[in-house]
Amino acid sequence: MKILFVSSEVAPYAKVGGLADVCGALPKALARLGHQVVVTLPAYGRALDHLAWDSGVRTRSWLFGIHHELGYAVHEAAENLSVVLLQHSAFHRGGGVYGDAHGGFGDNLFRFALMCRGALEVPRAVPLGGGGPLGEDIVLHAHDWPAALACVNLRAAYQAVGVYRGARAVFTVHNAAHQGRYPGAEFGGLDLAPRWRGAVDWDGDLGLLKAGLVTADVVTAVSPTFAEELRSRAGGFGLDGLFRRVPLQGILNGIDVEDWNPETDAALAAPYRWDDVAGKGACKAALQAELGLPVRPEVPLLAIISRMDAQKGLDSVLEVAPWLLRQDIQLVVLGSGAPNLEAAFRQLAARHPHRVHAEIGFDVPLSRRIYAGADFILVPSRFEPCGLTQLYGMRYGAVPVVRSVGGLVDTVTPWSPATGQGTGWRYARPEGLQEALFWALRTWWDYPEAFAQVRENGMRADWSWDRAARQYEALYRG
Ligand code: ADP
Repeated sequence: MKILFVSSEVAPYAKVGGLADVCGALPKALARLGHQVVVTLPAYGRALDHLAWDSGVRTRSWLFGIHHELGYAVHEAAENLSVVLLQHSAFHRGGGVYGDAHGGFGDNLFRFALMCRGALEVPRAVPLGGGGPLGEDIVLHAHDWPAALACVNLRAAYQAVGVYRGARAVFTVHNAAHQGRYPGAEFGGLDLAPRWRGAVDWDGDLGLLKAGLVTADVVTAVSPTFAEELRSRAGGFGLDGLFRRVPLQGILNGIDVEDWNPETDAALAAPYRWDDVAGKGACKAALQAELGLPVRPEVPLLAIISRMDAQKGLDSVLEVAPWLLRQDIQLVVLGSGAPNLEAAFRQLAARHPHRVHAEIGFDVPLSRRIYAGADFILVPSRFEPCGLTQLYGMRYGAVPVVRSVGGLVDTVTPWSPATGQGTGWRYARPEGLQEALFWALRTWWDYPEAFAQVRENGMRADWSWDRAARQYEALYRG
């Protein structure tokens, strides 16, 4: 099959969260299955450093009352896998993918509408790997609200005039809290025929996530439990009625087990694997030294690697902090986002310099060293579509303590001393965090062999993309 991915984030080109990891790794797994995959994303800032060459192709898209010229840079990333970076001045600017220190960019509707238009020109116009373009017989796989207009445009701008006739559209929901809502009056800028207004209308506004749901052939969510939650009133973010009506399937994310491998990870102080974790001790000592914490192997090191957003439930960690910090533990937090949470964790670290380190920022190599150096990874999310930090944690031997929501339910099985099965600790209500931590820490201190078993169970679990890639393959076939 010929598969076109459209996403605002793709690792390692541009990453804000798990969306990037998925759109970096799933295409590789599909290419390994023999499909021809093209991944498109905007060329933000430094994305062009990634060995891409200018295809020389230029296209023009009419949006918001003017023609916009797009360029296309191609990176042949692997056999059967090309990444096409869309070049336009609206993408190439300082700040992050969606905004800068002053907040979200004011023209994001235009920027991502342009991404969607440009992406659909790729299979028709951009030659790949010395051959021709991908062609029209494609499966479009669009991700989250920024890419939703690709599904709409496929129908409205192309299939309506006989192009991409046999194409199928798959839309994946990675996070339904972000819905791409804009004033209804902006419809005119999108250059869609009036009859498409209903598809993008959401309560008088434009609702891009909603538009993706109703124009795709199939919708997927990134875990079975998240798919179930989306169909419920409490978990559907106001779209539950729609989620019950559209063909929605939950497919659990994997991780790139080659890229995230403690045996080969160049960012680590020492390599290790499940049956020889000596190197993990060296990684822990190196991390403690790097972050200015006392180098003490016997102290359990708890870590959080997270966007600092209300979704992530970090306030519940601040609530248990007085109790937690009376124990002989160390806590390392890496994240950035909401200024009040950043300040709260900075303060906690200032008050407990020998127990807490808060690193405010986004630093992938440091995140790898933390997964490797930590004994536990905490994921106290209010909701979590799939969650990847518990998966990287398990792979690197940091045992997860997670709230029982979304993909955390599908990936972390509670430890059972009776059977020796299980990969971590889970709790249902936010107040349950303290009790879950109590049992996790008690196991570390009083039952070291049990702790070693939980950790080994997690490290040996198979989180590779192959299973999910086969499920997507079946959906693409229809
Ligand atoms: P979400 O997509 O909601 O942010 P996920 O758990 O699905 O949550 O994915 C988060 C990804 O972002 C993981 O790869 C995690 O390691 C990474 N990450 C989160 N915060 C940081 C940070 N401050 N520095 C580096 N990587 C981070």
